[in-house]
Amino acid sequence: MKKFNGADQIQDLQFFGEFGGVNPSISDSSTYTFLSAKTMSDTFEGNTDGCYLYSRHSSPSNLYLAEALAKMEGTESANVTASGMGAITSALLQLCKSGDHIVSSRTIYGGTYAFMKNFLPGYKIETSFVDITDLQKVESSITKNTKVLYCETVSNPLLEIADLEGLSKIAKKHHLKLVVDNTFSPLSVTPQLLGADVTLHSLTKFINGSSDTVGGVYCGTQEFINATKDVNSGACMLLGPTMDSLRAASVLKNLRTLPIRMRKHSENALFLAENWEKDGLKVKYPGLKSHPQHELFKTMMHEEFGFGGLVALDVKTVEKANELMEMMQNENLGYLAVSLGFYKTLFSASGTSTSSEIPEDEQKEMGLSPGLIRFSIGLDHDIERTYLKMKTCMEKVGVL
Ligand SMILES: *Cc1c(COP(=O)(O)O)cnc(C)c1O
Repeated sequence: MKKFNGADQIQDLQFFGEFGGVNPSISDSSTYTFLSAKTMSDTFEGNTDGCYLYSRHSSPSNLYLAEALAKMEGTESANVTASGMGAITSALLQLCKSGDHIVSSRTIYGGTYAFMKNFLPGYKIETSFVDITDLQKVESSITKNTKVLYCETVSNPLLEIADLEGLSKIAKKHHLKLVVDNTFSPLSVTPQLLGADVTLHSLTKFINGSSDTVGGVYCGTQEFINATKDVNSGACMLLGPTMDSLRAASVLKNLRTLPIRMRKHSENALFLAENWEKDGLKVKYPGLKSHPQHELFKTMMHEEFGFGGLVALDVKTVEKANELMEMMQNENLGYLAVSLGFYKTLFSASGTSTSSEIPEDEQKEMGLSPGLIRFSIGLDHDIERTYLKMKTCMEKVGVL
């Protein structure tokens, strides 16, 4: 039998519209009628499957998208949210209560870091931030109160790879939930197959891919998803970061081209990373043999989707980084913008933007140089042409 592949799962979806349309109908309602009063009270108590109650809980359009993403990630179920942070905060607040403890990778998305570092302690949930590539450190940071082990498959912005199988062994041994943010590596890596309990994404990035909305999803067991949607105690139901139905329908349509987009992002990123390395630049990319976890990543990935669309280039100083980024934008080689997964290349200096929540001394300790530019490589048709134009910019600002 062929190995599980998220792209086949997307291909095999078959959702019809109300009138036989090739796209599922969009449910444009916040509330739903019941044929009898008894069904309504049963629904509130969670005793009726397939009945809709109110769209903060579930809507048909959101369920289509959630089902597609659960299929893609190989989990029993999923729930979509209005943003990636909506998914992360809902999942964490469902798993952790006052007095609990999280062990998290120290190189994570700035918003997630700020949530754990500054917000959760107000609710007596503490987090230890560790070097996730050091499994011994991870294990020794676990306390009797630890409930969650948290990481990103490919970390932001340093592109370190988490050994998900190794982490999952530790999580199982200590009865923790392994929660994995897979935003940087959709289709390439399926965390569930490597032992993750919850896989989550910012849909804003590669999955939607058109930089026209924010969105999120968390994928896990049916039991976990139901718990987050419980009308009395569900973190997502009660905090309310619900995705709008119209948007869910739009994200589902974009999801269909994710397999071809991921291949192209990865192909272009590998081309630039290899050539920049040859040119003597300091570049980090999981597809390069020089990357410390290159071999590990190869054992984790579905090879046809490559090593992802993100490349980190260290030009040493923030001044050089800014000069280079402005020049590349003027030459229309990409946009000086945060976020990732767009058809155009996006670049930003991580230390002063998406990771600015992380204090300077901690940035230094984790190896985040002030001149680090994070590139999300676009779908450029002729990447060699792009490379040559970028090279001219690099020569002009004195990086090359
Ligand atoms: C963008 C991002 C998030 C947050 O998602 P939003 O959709 O902006 O709320 C979380 N994790 C990673 C890795 C991200 O890149």
